[in-house]
Amino acid sequence: MPARTAEVLVLGSGTSTGVPLIGCTCPVCTSSDPRDVRARCGLHVSCEGFALQIDVSPDFRAQALRFGVSRVDAALVTHCHADHALGLDDLRRFNTLQGAPIPLYARRTAMRGLRRIFGYVFEPSDAARRSRLYLPRLVPHAIGDAPVPIGPFLVRTLRIPHGPSFSCAVEVALDGRRLVVASDCSRVTPPLAAMLRGADLAFLDGLRDRPHSAHLTVDAAAAALLASGCRRGRLIHIGHDILHADLLRRLPAPLAPSFDGERLPL
Ligand SMILES: [Zn+2]
Ligand SMILES: [Zn+2]
Ligand SMILES: [Zn+2]
Repeated sequence: MPARTAEVLVLGSGTSTGVPLIGCTCPVCTSSDPRDVRARCGLHVSCEGFALQIDVSPDFRAQALRFGVSRVDAALVTHCHADHALGLDDLRRFNTLQGAPIPLYARRTAMRGLRRIFGYVFEPSDAARRSRLYLPRLVPHAIGDAPVPIGPFLVRTLRIPHGPSFSCAVEVALDGRRLVVASDCSRVTPPLAAMLRGADLAFLDGLRDRPHSAHLTVDAAAAALLASGCRRGRLIHIGHDILHADLLRRLPAPLAPSFDGERLPL
C-alpha cells in the first residue's frame, strides 16, 4: 500500500497576544508583510478526509473561515491556556456540519482545566441540556504518555516545562513519518529532544530574542531544532519583536519561521 500523505496547515503562528498587539506601533505590528500578522497558535493536520485540530485558539473561527477549514474529526488541546483553548465553543459548527460528536483529547491536567473553564459544555444545566443545539458536543478523552490512535494518526504527548506550569509536546505519526509540535516550551528536556530527533517536520516555541520565563528564545529553539536533525524545522508562537523576513534570513536551512496559512506536507 503506498504511504499516505498528510497536510499540516498553520492556522496561527503567534504568541498569546497575537500580532499585531492592540495599541502597538512597533515595526512588526505595523509591518505591511502579511507574514507579520500572527494569530494565536493552532495547527490543522489532515489526511485522506480526516482532520485533526491541534489547539483551538480564540482566533479559531476566523482562522477556519480564512483558510477554508471544513472538517474537524478530532481535536487535541495541548494545555489549558486561553490562547490555546478558548476557541473550543466554535467546534459546535463542525458538530452541525458533520452530524456527530467530536472526540477531544488532552492530558489529564489540561482536561481538568477545560472542564472547569467550559463547565457549561461538560456539565450543562438542565435548560442548556434541553437546548443542546447551542452546545458543542465533545467526547473528552484524558490521555497520558501512551500513544493513542486518532483517525489515521498515532498520536503521543509528552509533558514539557512551560514556565511555572506545563504544556505538552505532540507527536503525530503517519506511515513512518513524524510531525512534532512544542509550541509552548521553556526548556528542551532530554525526552523532548528525543521526540524531536529525526522528525520529518518539527515546530518549536521561538518567542523572541530576550529571555522569557515561559518560552524559548529564537536561538535556543534554533539550536534544539538543528541538534535534532529534523528534516524541516519551524519556529512558532512568535512575538512582535522580530520581522518574519529578518528571521527567515537569520535561520539556517532547514529552519524557517512559520507563518499563518503555511501549508506543509507530511
Ligand atoms: Zn501559548
Ligand atoms: Zn508591536
Ligand atoms: Zn501557554
